[in-house]
Amino acid sequence: MIVAIPKETFPGENRVALVPANVPALAKAGVEITIESGAGAGAFQPDEAYISRGAKIEDNRERLLSRADTVLIVRGPGADPGFPQSDLDALRPGTALIAFLEPLAEPELMKSLAGRDLTLFAMDLIPRVTRAQQMDTLSSMATLAGYKAVLLAAQAAPRMFPLMMTAAGTFTPAKVFVIGAGVAGLQAIATARRLGAVVEAYDLRPAVKEQVESLGARFIELDLKADEAETSGGYARQQTDDFYRVQQELLSEHLAKSDVVITTAAVPGKRAPILISRDIFENLRPGSVVVDLAAEKGGNCSLTKPGEQIVVDGVTIIGPTNLPSQVPLHASQMYSKNISTFLLFLLRDGGLNLDTSDEIIRESLVAHGGRLVNPAVLKALKGE
Ligand code: NAD
Repeated sequence: MIVAIPKETFPGENRVALVPANVPALAKAGVEITIESGAGAGAFQPDEAYISRGAKIEDNRERLLSRADTVLIVRGPGADPGFPQSDLDALRPGTALIAFLEPLAEPELMKSLAGRDLTLFAMDLIPRVTRAQQMDTLSSMATLAGYKAVLLAAQAAPRMFPLMMTAAGTFTPAKVFVIGAGVAGLQAIATARRLGAVVEAYDLRPAVKEQVESLGARFIELDLKADEAETSGGYARQQTDDFYRVQQELLSEHLAKSDVVITTAAVPGKRAPILISRDIFENLRPGSVVVDLAAEKGGNCSLTKPGEQIVVDGVTIIGPTNLPSQVPLHASQMYSKNISTFLLFLLRDGGLNLDTSDEIIRESLVAHGGRLVNPAVLKALKGE
């Protein structure tokens, strides 16, 4: 099997889908790896490092793609609105594409790609089961985003994070409030604690209380019970508009006391819930900083501008859209480990195993044989 790794084309994307360290394991499994020249440059992975691990380098992108049986990418169509048409045209029918695809947000696009007879696997749909932990790229990227969000907040804040006792006075630690304590939120808590901040956190899933406390943060419990807060997969369930309205009001008291607010709340396949409306925003102190990690999914703060840092009434609002790409070396190492583990898992008799009786394959396989095959994507296509 020939596996191709093209250079990412999304603006500002520094990651690469495969790093040299993971080439030997794939080569041992009988895979021939070809990398587009310079594909690893943004992540500090030179062509020579790939060659020394047994990969080939190709200068001509069209030739690279047209010869491939399988293509590994970070941002595939769906996750990259400007995905080059020429790349799609270069792929032979039957080629497998493994990438972030955001198929639930882009079901129509997935249908048209299926019509090209591409086999599509979405890294972002791999279930979060123990067996798939090493393939869990959502967790990998969320970990990096949570870490980097705190650094952005520390950089923008007009104050230091740790308690400081100096000859010029004693300075109290920054108060950081993390809303949404999933993978990114927990990493944000840990990072803010390491910088010496006092951290509070809230999540509508009560199950995370223990995890928050084990990181040395205080878990905030609101006088508000979510209706079946958690899905069987451990994700938050979408709540009613009334729930979100009351939640915002109850959160405002904690927002008013915070120097830094990091929001990470998300509901899979839906717009991110608004936690800080314009009215609630009034409660934030001038000089405080909001880092809205949900910016790409519509934002948890209604004033967030995706990809921008703005100041409103003295409050800095940062809406980063591709934080993992700002940590490209480790982000690529993690993604590469995830995607190469997934590919090794799929390899069977020189091809890819498409047996959907395995839940990892069933949930991540989007299209095959000219049609959409994923139940969740088919539901999204019908607008359900
Ligand atoms: P996510 O990115 O979908 O959401 C982030 C967080 O926002 C979640 O904790 C969610 O509960 C919270 N949230 C949503 N709406 C909210 C609201 N209105 N108010 C407050 N918080 C809100 O989640 P994620 O980080 O991808 O993690 C989802 C789950 O998957 C977690 O339970 C995590 O432990 C689990 N997980 C399991 C494994 C595994 O077992 N292998 C691996 C990774 C993650």
